[in-house]
Amino acid sequence: MAVPAPRLTLAERLYLPEVLRGVGVTTRHFVRNLTLHTLHLFGLAKDRRAAVTTQYPEERKVYSDGYRGAHRLTLKPDNAVRCTACFLCATACPAKCIHIEAGEHPDPEVEKYPVRYEIDTLQCIYCGMCVEACPCDAIRMDTYVHPKIWGYQREDFVETKQVLMARSRVLAERGRDALMSDMLREYREDEAAAAEGR
Ligand code: SF4
Ligand code: SF4
Repeated sequence: MAVPAPRLTLAERLYLPEVLRGVGVTTRHFVRNLTLHTLHLFGLAKDRRAAVTTQYPEERKVYSDGYRGAHRLTLKPDNAVRCTACFLCATACPAKCIHIEAGEHPDPEVEKYPVRYEIDTLQCIYCGMCVEACPCDAIRMDTYVHPKIWGYQREDFVETKQVLMARSRVLAERGRDALMSDMLREYREDEAAAAEGR
């Protein structure tokens, strides 16, 4: 049986009272946040939050265990890249943002390896298809860190093979929080350098 649509009251059908109510809510939050931010500047009322939004990057939420973060290229026990440059991930990628250049490996036991492996994170839609397509578990998104979100040119957002391999090393040696700490430190250093150059 169809559920009847909720009926609007007369005040709601007049629209203007509802518009004024909305403006009132927005103004109340604006004034409250402005006041608290101003007090915080003087070291006052620090125990009261000024806004409901997370003040990233100063604050950040803990990502859930299911979070699919930045990519990484996994490593063999000798720290060499596991990828065999088969192009299955690049073929499966709906955003066409994986760029691989295959090369002959000096070891005759290894057929191919990626001379170049790059992901354009401005095009990536974080669907995980590359991870699903890989036949040898050479690419993962289990890093609990998002890719770099600041930069001054497009190249700043292209993750190279070196960057993707380094993530695996940091994860193995220092744990998953280290990736986020390193990123935040790098962000603050870049921000300070940019401020000095102003
Ligand atoms: S997550 Fe999706 S869009 Fe991003 S590189 Fe992998 S397949 Fe492409
Ligand atoms: S990451 Fe996996 S699917 Fe992609 S080229 Fe390397 S081995 Fe093939």
